[in-house]
Amino acid sequence: MKHAFIALAASGLLAALSAQQPRPFDLLVTNARIVDGTGGPSVNGSVGVRDGRIAGVGRVTGAATRTIDAHGFVLAPGFIDPHSHSDYALLTDGNAESKIRQGVTTEVIGESGSAAPQKPSASRPWSDFAGYFGTIEKSKISVNLLSYVGLGQVREQVMGNDDRDPTADELAKMTALVADAMRQGAYGVATGLIYSPNAYAKLPELVALSKPAAAAGGIYVSHLRYDGDKLREGLEEAIAIGEGAHIPVQVLHIKVTGAKNFGRMKEVIAIVEAAQKRGLEISANQYPYVASSTGLIQTIPPWAHEGGNAKLVERLKDPATRARIRKEMDDPNPTWENRLLSAGTWHNVQIASISNRSIDSRQTGLDTGYKRFEGWRVDDAAKEMGKDPYDFVFEMLIANGGSVGCVWFIIDESDLKLALEQPWVSIGSDGSALAISGPLRIGVPHPRNFGTFPRVLGKYVREERVIPLEQAVYKMSGLTAKQLHIADRGTIKEGLAADLVIFDPSTVADRATFTDPFQYPVGIPTVIVNGKVVLDNMRHTGERPGVVIRGHGFAGASH
Ligand SMILES: [Zn+2]
Repeated sequence: MKHAFIALAASGLLAALSAQQPRPFDLLVTNARIVDGTGGPSVNGSVGVRDGRIAGVGRVTGAATRTIDAHGFVLAPGFIDPHSHSDYALLTDGNAESKIRQGVTTEVIGESGSAAPQKPSASRPWSDFAGYFGTIEKSKISVNLLSYVGLGQVREQVMGNDDRDPTADELAKMTALVADAMRQGAYGVATGLIYSPNAYAKLPELVALSKPAAAAGGIYVSHLRYDGDKLREGLEEAIAIGEGAHIPVQVLHIKVTGAKNFGRMKEVIAIVEAAQKRGLEISANQYPYVASSTGLIQTIPPWAHEGGNAKLVERLKDPATRARIRKEMDDPNPTWENRLLSAGTWHNVQIASISNRSIDSRQTGLDTGYKRFEGWRVDDAAKEMGKDPYDFVFEMLIANGGSVGCVWFIIDESDLKLALEQPWVSIGSDGSALAISGPLRIGVPHPRNFGTFPRVLGKYVREERVIPLEQAVYKMSGLTAKQLHIADRGTIKEGLAADLVIFDPSTVADRATFTDPFQYPVGIPTVIVNGKVVLDNMRHTGERPGVVIRGHGFAGASH
């Protein structure tokens, strides 16, 4: 009797099971070495994907619409780039090719200027984040996207490029703009404190403007005011904002600049860890290169930037003002972060792109006679022109409306490696989604746009063994999601969004160099975004399954 009952129950169970037979997987990746993004050891197995989500991990079997045999390859969560400047590039080309090919599936933007709030124009017809996100969603992108609201952007809307403190009324207006951005889905607030007009903002203003972001569950990220001689002050300011506004802090591209500061990364680490011990949630990201990239105008003191680039050009044309600027550029103890001082000599400054104010102006193809120097060191270019390097720089800036992008060789390899070893430092490119052909092939940009993530996996994991593979993947996915408070991405776990990358740990490598940056990496054949294959055997499929990830303060689509 008992036996018959069990048999009956079992057949009932079987019937029930077959009635609920799961649909086939949309995608099944088999025989993979799964590095799940938690930092834990890898396991061999399969991962099934259904409806854009991870539907099974480990010993997964069953029918699938498509199966990818990943034998010999690592399967990892898609990489999150916490420091990207693709705000407009993604509207020029939504394929995000230079990022997708690095395994990046989520771009984080809005880190100094941001796409909103702004005054609408013909090419950028939105005013706020609801409008910008809507434009992105309509044009479609291959990567996911989330954005901070830039406090420099907010200041410019209310105060223009004035070098002064805000009035109470202006501060209230700026606070309201931040609160609006958070309600529309911004992820937090960001600063670029070497850039005009953000550079004119002092601590009380930055704390006040971070508070509405904190209230909406956002974070504060910063391009610090100083990372050279005054690096302690730069860090202490970020920490004071975090503690003053009760908001988590992320330092963008943590680094130490200038030959005389080489070796001071341990000081940076001590300051950050002391703040962590006091209870502040503070972290950082970094790129794996000994050169930075920013405008040539960062050699010129902030007062000369007041009013914007047009005013700067006027000042450079005036002999007396130009003489004063030149004198301050050589001041060995400046009150501002002088990039020339970090570089030491003009030879450490490489011209990257002429007229790079925006993607729009780059597309005009305007050549002011200086484009041939893209990729040259400043001293060599000045010599070629028979000019003193300062005069060459001033004249190049005047001719190009102040828009000259440069690459700066100002970082020490051992500081870079020490930062990489810290468990609270994630990987971020500080680059844009570019492409080796089409409108996004511009100048001779920093190779980080093409090589950041594979460079860590190739050079620093496989070749130099600075960190283990599992740790590197964690720094590109799970850690980043944790630092940014992204709930459903960053690890390979059932139920999470199916953002995945397949790479060959024995060959993955960057190919982009400082003289020849337009080269995609090798060893990353497949990238999957929200369950859709975007990179298939090294070929971009044209799929654009990326979504806008709205922040925790998002108040709904009606806003
Ligand atoms: Zn940046």
